[in-house]
Amino acid sequence: MTAPVLCEFCNKEIKEREDLTLAAGGFRIKPYHEFCYGKDAKRDNILFMSHPLNGMTGMISYLITFVLTLVFYFTGTFIKYIVFIYFVIETCLRLYAVYFIWKKFSGTRT
Ligand SMILES: [Zn+2]
Repeated sequence: MTAPVLCEFCNKEIKEREDLTLAAGGFRIKPYHEFCYGKDAKRDNILFMSHPLNGMTGMISYLITFVLTLVFYFTGTFIKYIVFIYFVIETCLRLYAVYFIWKKFSGTRT
């Protein structure tokens, strides 16, 4: 049995996979209830603003990152390296999020 996933905002257990929002920010990945993430995001400092890694919002932001990486790749400036490094970091964060969700909720479905 794995340890329960506790919400960073309300500190209650997240029981369902669909209710989990993983957010990256402040050099950490934090689990939230979907509802609690919105409340906590409003308190965030602009420098350490978190962004969701899973769900529809996470998927859209990842697609935008991917498209911008492709656009900057063809510019030929040094910015393409910075954008590429950011894209690699975002990819690693999402892979970790998929692993985390799989590990915590793989046995809960019927
Ligand atoms: Zn919560």
